[in-house]
This record gives sequence, structure tokens and C-alpha cells, in this order.
Amino acid sequence: MATRLKVATTSLAGCFGCHMSFLDIDERILQLAEIADFDRSPLTDIKHCSESVDIGLIEGGLCNAENVHTLREFRKSCRILVAVGACAINGGLPAMRNHIKLEDCLNEAYLDGYNTLNPQIPNDVELPLLLNKVHPIHEVVKVDYFLPGCPPSADTFWKFLTDLASGNEPSLPYDLIHYD
Ligand code: SF4
Repeated sequence: MATRLKVATTSLAGCFGCHMSFLDIDERILQLAEIADFDRSPLTDIKHCSESVDIGLIEGGLCNAENVHTLREFRKSCRILVAVGACAINGGLPAMRNHIKLEDCLNEAYLDGYNTLNPQIPNDVELPLLLNKVHPIHEVVKVDYFLPGCPPSADTFWKFLTDLASGNEPSLPYDLIHYD
């Protein structure tokens, strides 16, 4: 383990399942703490990246303007940006709405749903503007690595990060990236 890393993580339009899977490295997190410091992350509750982060792990795709802003900010700070999981890589589950008009989605969710009380579409000015479609992150910024899975397994995170920390190009064996 030659290089000490600064690692940041964030979630855009995701479910935090990728973060939960990352935490499934269990006691290996102690070994990780010997080779890496955590910067911005839901795990640290630090809200903004320091100027220079080695590895940024992004869960989730882009469903609103705030996601795009966060992604661009993250990209600026991170030397290596990693799209983690199906949502970041191809939009994942949230992108199922891409086949339906946004207006119809909102109507179904907030106006026409079964047992909806006081139906109204949220319109607070502080709510981020929804995009018409959900986008994968590589459509907006350069992505250096893609970790597939929904979510990627803890062993996948572990192998990937320890390869990088050792100064090696990450190399994931087939059993960590096949889902058949
Ligand atoms: S890839 Fe799967 S686990 Fe990860 S954020 Fe998306 S839905 Fe959740």
C-alpha cells in the first residue's frame, strides 16, 4: 500500500444502496482507514470536497439541475472520477421514467395516485428543477472508471480501491463483474 488516498463519495439520483454495499467491506474499513482519508461523503457528513481529492465515487444518475451542479463540482475536485453502479453508469432504475412524459409522471405521482390526499404537484422555488430525462453521468463529465452492478459488491469496491492505492491499474476478476 504505497500511496495514501483522499476519497470522496456522493449520491445523485440513487438509492444509497451503493453506499450501503461499500460499507459491507465490514472490518476491512479499518485497513482502508490506514490507506485512505475520507473527504466529502455521506459517511463523514462533509458537504463540499477539498480542493484536491484522489478518488471520487459517484452513485446515481442525473435527474435534476442540482445533480448536474453537484457532479460538475465533484469532477473539478477529483483526480479520478468513478461512476459507481447502474444508476451512475446508465441511469438505472430512475431512468425508467424516460419512457414516459415528465408531466404524466408528476400527475401519476402527485395527482392521480390511489388514496392521494390534497393532490398537488410540489412547486416550492427551492426544489431543484427536474430534467426531462434521467441521464448517466458520463453524458455530462469525463468519467475515468465504471464500477458495474446494482450495487457493486463490497469485494468489488475493495479490489478496486486497493488496486489504486497500490499504484496499479484496477483489474477486476470476472466473478466480481458478472451478474448472470
Ligand atoms: S445502482 Fe442500484 S444500489 Fe446503486 S444507487 Fe442505483 S439502484 Fe441503488
